Amino acid sequence: MTGIAALPAMQFMAALVAGLLYVATYLSFVRLLKYPRNWHLPSLPASLSTGALAALTVALVSLSPDGLDRAALTISVGCIAAVFFIVAAPSIAFQPASRLVEFLAKHGDYAGLGLIGPALLAGLAVPNIKLQAVLATAMAIELSWFLRQRWTARRRPLYPMNDRDLSVLKTQANGDLVAFRRRHGIRELVLSEGVVNWKGCGKDTPPCPFNLYVNHLGLNTAPCCREHMKALSHYVAGCLGEMEAVHWLEGGSLLGAVREKGALLDWEDDIDISVLLDDDVTWERLASGLAERGARDGFYVDIFEKKGFLSISFDPPGRWPFRWERNRLRGEIRTDIAVYRRAVSFGKAVLERQSHKGAMPSTESGGYGVPQDVVLPITTVPFLGGDFACPNQAEAYLRLLYGDFQKVEYTYVNTEAAKARAGIDAGISPKSAIGLD
Ligand SMILES: [Zn+2]
Repeated sequence: MTGIAALPAMQFMAALVAGLLYVATYLSFVRLLKYPRNWHLPSLPASLSTGALAALTVALVSLSPDGLDRAALTISVGCIAAVFFIVAAPSIAFQPASRLVEFLAKHGDYAGLGLIGPALLAGLAVPNIKLQAVLATAMAIELSWFLRQRWTARRRPLYPMNDRDLSVLKTQANGDLVAFRRRHGIRELVLSEGVVNWKGCGKDTPPCPFNLYVNHLGLNTAPCCREHMKALSHYVAGCLGEMEAVHWLEGGSLLGAVREKGALLDWEDDIDISVLLDDDVTWERLASGLAERGARDGFYVDIFEKKGFLSISFDPPGRWPFRWERNRLRGEIRTDIAVYRRAVSFGKAVLERQSHKGAMPSTESGGYGVPQDVVLPITTVPFLGGDFACPNQAEAYLRLLYGDFQKVEYTYVNTEAAKARAGIDAGISPKSAIGLD
């Protein structure tokens, strides 16, 4: 084979490698998004490896024996930055975010398609086959993401809304459900001939982005999400029971069990359960036990060893490597598990965790802890139609976390929504609650 004849084959190989490098960078990036979804900063090794893959992709595209292709450098950096910003938006929006991020999160299933036009023009304008391969791969992934989201969304079953959910919805919408649905892009809300239904999420559909609906718009947790939270909490408690792990309802879930007499808080967005590690139930045994059961029974399990934290989600794990793409979804239903260890702090026996929770006091070693006798021996409390393990002195535990826990705190991000909601609960006219009278 002559040198000239070998050239197209070489170029084809280089383009193929560039496309594959982009796929690796993309997967590494979506994997990273599990951190912001769980309110953590990405770990340094994971961030560095994603950065290295991105740098390698850009270098391969823009460097050749002829030197640096500046146009390809600019376009590849711009394309990766733009696509990844769009891809990350739904995960960033788990916390209060800028309007642009909120907008991109809301349209996360098709926002990437907006780049097809610019990518096509750039690919035509710059005759660099490696750049063209990266642009084509990036756009093919965005198109495939869009089609998969649309395909699964068709399976959403209809859920009726109860009177309480409906009255909260109508108040927050100021009576105009049609405008409210349009303004906030609430695709799940189905209005026909005066009947209001909710197009619910299921195990194989995209989740309801109820983090947004609940914390920003002040709605009650959707009926489908409540049902799945109930199923998931029973499942996780069952797994922990099988593993003989000492565990208890934590945070908002315990608050619901005690104050709301065994129900979820109206605006609950996850289930919290804590586990005490000891010689029998070590971190490794807990993590592997839950990961194996989740894989077997169709629940996605994420493990954050450094943070002492696990999250078990209602959605199924998905096939490798696509399972990481779930981090592009705008919501999720999950049970968060934090671990505690026995410790001594300021001369007292405590159970200690690494991450803060409510107003739980700091311990001598820099963690957060509760007196051991407030939790042990574990007792049970009725919750979501079953008996769940709970701290021995549940009310004392809640006071440590929330102070006067009988007083309802409206934890919404949006203060208008919180005021309107407080008005509904106090039984006063919603309009006077938000000062419109
Ligand atoms: Zn739902």
